[in-house]
Amino acid sequence: MQILTPEFSCFATDAELIAQVAHLNTEYRKGSPLVTDAHFDALFTELEQRQPDHELVKKVQPEPLQDSKGRIAHSRPMLSTEKSYEPAEVKSWLEKIATFTGETLANGTTLIRISPKFDGCAGRFDKDASAKLITRGDGNFGNDFTHLIAHGLVFKGYGEIGEVICDEGYFQSVLKPQGVVHPRNFVAGLISADTLSPIGLKALKDGAVHFVSYDDHPGNVTVTLSAVMDLLDTVEASLIANCPYRTDGIILQVHDEQIFKSMGHGSRSHHAQLAKKIAGEPVEAEITGINWQVGRSGRVTPVLNIVPTEMSGATVSNCTAHHAGNVKAQGIGAGAVGLYIRAGEVIPKLLKVLKPSPNTVLPEECPCCQSELVWQGDFLNCNNDACEGRIASQLEFLTKTLGIDLIGRKAAEKLAKAGVDCVGLLSITSEKLIGAGFGAGQAANILSEIDRVKTNPIEDFKVMASVGIHTLGKRASKNLLSEYPLNALLSGITETQITALSGFADTKATAIVDGLEKNKALLSFLAQFFVQITPSKLVISNDAPLIGLNVVFTGTLSSGSRNEVERNAEMLGAKIQSSVNGKTNVLVCGANVGVSKTSKAAALGVKVITEADYLMMIG
Ligand SMILES: [Zn+2]
Repeated sequence: MQILTPEFSCFATDAELIAQVAHLNTEYRKGSPLVTDAHFDALFTELEQRQPDHELVKKVQPEPLQDSKGRIAHSRPMLSTEKSYEPAEVKSWLEKIATFTGETLANGTTLIRISPKFDGCAGRFDKDASAKLITRGDGNFGNDFTHLIAHGLVFKGYGEIGEVICDEGYFQSVLKPQGVVHPRNFVAGLISADTLSPIGLKALKDGAVHFVSYDDHPGNVTVTLSAVMDLLDTVEASLIANCPYRTDGIILQVHDEQIFKSMGHGSRSHHAQLAKKIAGEPVEAEITGINWQVGRSGRVTPVLNIVPTEMSGATVSNCTAHHAGNVKAQGIGAGAVGLYIRAGEVIPKLLKVLKPSPNTVLPEECPCCQSELVWQGDFLNCNNDACEGRIASQLEFLTKTLGIDLIGRKAAEKLAKAGVDCVGLLSITSEKLIGAGFGAGQAANILSEIDRVKTNPIEDFKVMASVGIHTLGKRASKNLLSEYPLNALLSGITETQITALSGFADTKATAIVDGLEKNKALLSFLAQFFVQITPSKLVISNDAPLIGLNVVFTGTLSSGSRNEVERNAEMLGAKIQSSVNGKTNVLVCGANVGVSKTSKAAALGVKVITEADYLMMIG
């Protein structure tokens, strides 16, 4: 059909005009409009004036629009959610919000809502427009699944936007035994099926299929902007573990409706909303039992044995379950089914228990020394300092942190069994190693490995971290040692001195003072053991050649790597800057330095010297 242009519509007969409007209207409702809205309106107005009573004109309540696939239109677009995987992406999103609200990430009080990201099918209950349930589809058109209500679809909450999803308990106990593989596929099948299967009808009738509204889901939590990054991991783990539905991440969004709206949206998603997805596809596997392992401080932690399962390219047969409190709360044990994720090379993590064990057993005594276990918060503890399991874990941790190879779990257990502790290992003899069950060749290799680490320079923070005080990992050790040298710490430091440093809260300080006291003998031994310990705290004499100077190095240096040269300059009293500014005193130029750099420095009155000049200067 030839399309009438607006300016010629007045010359068309009534019949031609009616045929035109009907045709254009049909195509438009199929989702394939042939003309612009303005063009259509012009023809429609012409018809309206000539035949105000025609049925095409009088149709007040239009049927929902349909696209060519029979999907119906949303009354306004239903956006999807921007996805992220890394905490760094969440952080930069939070920074954008802080910028928008005029706050800072450190102090912002804007509330952020965190919800589970359900792994089902998103949809909308379009109450006002059509009273229809529509899947999100492409955001403009979705599938109508209103008919599921009559079969027993349960509404959870009152929000307009939500997820169609199957109750996980029902899936595990009823659907999985009948061969249904994934709850998401099951729900997608219900929505798209022309005829509902008997299993589908029964699940609906049993009240196991829900439309869960996002806004008022009881699992949602709100935290202030400034607290999100600190709580992210904990909240994510707990939302996923405790949600009655399969979840594949979390959704963060600005809680305040006004701010949410005023932040606006792009073509696909709201700026005030972000999904943080689990990287990789979570995998189900049955738990066959629990191995309890004693950690270096006496914590007895559960390692799950699972039916060997393929996870991102590797066959996995065990997995950590964090702590005993988790085992108790989630009903972990033989016969339970867990959902795991293994991203990259990381050890698999238990995301949630899909089906609890009929028989959860918590140990009452230490698996290594049979001492009675004591609850401390969520942890079960063996408080026997002489426990072989604890000592093996200490040996394993110490050697790993110091970089001594050849001591794995098996070797550590052998040593602990022979009565060798950390001090004992570092001063061990060949006879003793052979006595502990190592071959002569193995013993020689271990001794030369210990000697290699002993005679190479080692940073003080590694030494500190190797004793395994929980609150003093490498980074915290470095912070502490940048202020107080190792010897000062060994002769005693107070909680007040520690809390005065940035990054050390009160509870941490107590644990540090405690841990230093408990590990004093081992630390004193280590302080003497190594040939050269590199201090984190620089001691600079008052007559050092670069004292008080702000220095920038640029270009290719010949006297060492950039790091080495800068560190050396720091030891000679310099403050290293990454680029020239008004406070810079000296710019040291290696080879291949552009003119722009030196001229900028000269303009600021900075002294520009060559590397050779610099070497003369420091003598
Ligand atoms: Zn024990």
